[in-house]
Amino acid sequence: MTIGEQWKQVEADYYMQVVRRMPMVLERAQGTYVYDTEGKGYLDFTAGWAVLNVGHSHPEVTAAIQEQAGMILQMSNLFYTIPQLKLAKILVDNSCMDRVFFCNSGAEANEGVCKLARKYGKLHLNGAHEIITADNSFHGRTMAMMAATGQAHYQDNWRPLMPGFVNVPYNDVDAIKEATTDQTCAVLLEPVQGEGGVNVPDPDYFTQVRAWCDEKRLLLISDEVQTGMGRLGTLFGYEQFGFEPDALTMAKGLGAGAPLGAFLCKQEYAVLEPGDHGSTFGGNALTTAAGAAGAKVVVDENWSAKGAEAGAYLKARLEELQAKHDVVTDVRGMGMLLALELADNRAGAVIAETVANGLLLNAVRPNTLRFMPPLTTSRAEIDEAIGILDAALNKVPAP
Ligand SMILES: *Cc1c(COP(=O)(O)O)cnc(C)c1O
Repeated sequence: MTIGEQWKQVEADYYMQVVRRMPMVLERAQGTYVYDTEGKGYLDFTAGWAVLNVGHSHPEVTAAIQEQAGMILQMSNLFYTIPQLKLAKILVDNSCMDRVFFCNSGAEANEGVCKLARKYGKLHLNGAHEIITADNSFHGRTMAMMAATGQAHYQDNWRPLMPGFVNVPYNDVDAIKEATTDQTCAVLLEPVQGEGGVNVPDPDYFTQVRAWCDEKRLLLISDEVQTGMGRLGTLFGYEQFGFEPDALTMAKGLGAGAPLGAFLCKQEYAVLEPGDHGSTFGGNALTTAAGAAGAKVVVDENWSAKGAEAGAYLKARLEELQAKHDVVTDVRGMGMLLALELADNRAGAVIAETVANGLLLNAVRPNTLRFMPPLTTSRAEIDEAIGILDAALNKVPAP
């Protein structure tokens, strides 16, 4: 048995079997590439799940982690520590938000912002507590976020769901209007739905939702867990749609590879007081040092705009594949969050083929491939990926 096979056996014997893994064991990574235990390299167009926005093992992130590890790792939030303050300042200075709370994941960020929304409802909307979310959304896998996530697959085995969430069709402002009652306190939406299949709303959807929320005094919350940190071509996804949310959540790209989440809000909605919310590890010195280093690279070197250029190039190359292969029925997305839809459910087989040839992709739907590479991916790397995908589309037959 190779070393990789030995580790796979450990996984099979010991690990909770909640995912069907790809066939190789990964050991190290640099930039857009990851390497398995055999030393084979793969172009990583999953980027640790839209996490490594400045690439794997970015030197500034690695240095920040190393330096922080020798200084202080963890203290209670009862005490001031510096890295979380550095990152808080970067986020607030570069968004329409005024205040930030750090936690450890996207689900936790959404949980926290929903607590903020409920308290806002209690204080300012006569106790209204319902939060409207969208079908095909993804907000996380905790008990509350399963109710927020409008996908049967994430809900049906775990009913009864937590009350207080109403799922309506995405990209349909009238559906939000119809679902609004005197119990509604907030609307929670992704600027582009990621896990739901890379669904881009109409250009005026969010300005219309914004106007409705203003009229009804509802909190409009942007779930930027996947779209934040430059993924759509601007630091935050909301900037692409010409509106300002009242609060937003982040995770994935925020920690530059360290597990880190956050929710932010404008000052007028900062209704949480001492004792209302907290987290032992939230704002941990190590994770926020990594996040501050990564965020500084994204902002100072303008990787949002550079990622938008790379994404436009990738999209154009995917459209070439669409022109060439009848099986490709759609190319969609923004920035470095793109999808290629197929006429049938061969996405898994196509990915098995690309992985065997050195390209990691995600089948976000049985008929849809998702592309979420680092924003730092070069044109040469995109060309290499397109070559591998082109060959796979030629080779993989209909299911
Ligand atoms: C991934 C994701 C989440 C959940 O984040 P976790 O860190 O896995 O809990 C929430 N919202 C969106 C939009 C996501 O893409």
